[in-house]
Amino acid sequence: MIEELRKHAKELLEYGELDVVIGYAEGSDPTRTSPVFIRKGDDVDKLVFDARCINSLPLYLNKRHEYPDKKLKKTGIFAKGCDVRAITQLIAENQLKREEVYIFSAPCEGVVSHPENWDGALHDGNCASKCVGCDVKIPADADFYSGGELPKVERNEPYQASAPQLVNLIGMAKDDRFAFWRNDFDRCFKCYACREVCPHCSCNICITDRTQPNWIDQAAHQKGVFAWHMTRAMHLVGRCTGCGECTRACPVDIQVDLFNQRMKEVIQETYGYKSGYSESEKPPLITYKTDDPQEFIR
Ligand code: SF4
Ligand code: SF4
Ligand code: SF4
Repeated sequence: MIEELRKHAKELLEYGELDVVIGYAEGSDPTRTSPVFIRKGDDVDKLVFDARCINSLPLYLNKRHEYPDKKLKKTGIFAKGCDVRAITQLIAENQLKREEVYIFSAPCEGVVSHPENWDGALHDGNCASKCVGCDVKIPADADFYSGGELPKVERNEPYQASAPQLVNLIGMAKDDRFAFWRNDFDRCFKCYACREVCPHCSCNICITDRTQPNWIDQAAHQKGVFAWHMTRAMHLVGRCTGCGECTRACPVDIQVDLFNQRMKEVIQETYGYKSGYSESEKPPLITYKTDDPQEFIR
């Protein structure tokens, strides 16, 4: 599979069809991989694509990063099924045009939850929770699919509260749930790693960095931390595609993505909308009608 992907990436780079291929290369030790930007056909042997390829690379296709601004003809990207979902969402939000990206993909059995849990194989004990019940192990879209023609798969299942932590949280009394988050947020020191890895945090200047007006208290005390997380969760409602990177990036193990996992279910129940499944349908909370009957929106 990897040889086939490398060969095709090399051809497209050498024919000038692609300016760059964003993929994964071996990392600093055998348990991890790192994002890599391949610009020359001779470098494609660096590319790997296996269960250690955790990072959500569509992050680099978001306009707030420099790559789309460089007037590149076309960017190639190695994408797992969940990454394809993130790309689809970026297209729906006008961050990217479909013709600006060339997707390399392959069937996916899952990725490891953290590099330190990698013991040479993927199994129930080290698999990322997002992979449980994943319906995009066969990606919904790809320009080059290793394994022949991309099969069509029905994807009508609603989101499931698959993470055991989310099931527990939903089952808690309101006060207990608040205590859970207060306990977690006491550790947050506002490093913003969760924001920096998110493919859908799109603002050039985040509301929490703005000082005029100063919408959110920048101090990492309880009030400032709650305001930051509630605001970020609301900005991602119906947009988060569940890559889990925010939680993985958090140095103090706060499960930030649980908010957005829950909100995905709420948005689907309320509006019948699933993020990352349509390039043309807009997320419900970023659309409005000028003739909306409620005055506040006009
Ligand atoms: S969520 Fe699905 S596509 Fe993404 S890594 Fe897990 S199994 Fe693969
Ligand atoms: S899981 Fe976290 S990092 Fe991934 S899209 Fe959702 S909010 Fe962003
Ligand atoms: S990564 Fe963790 S510590 Fe940093 S801002 Fe996000 S939740 Fe807080």
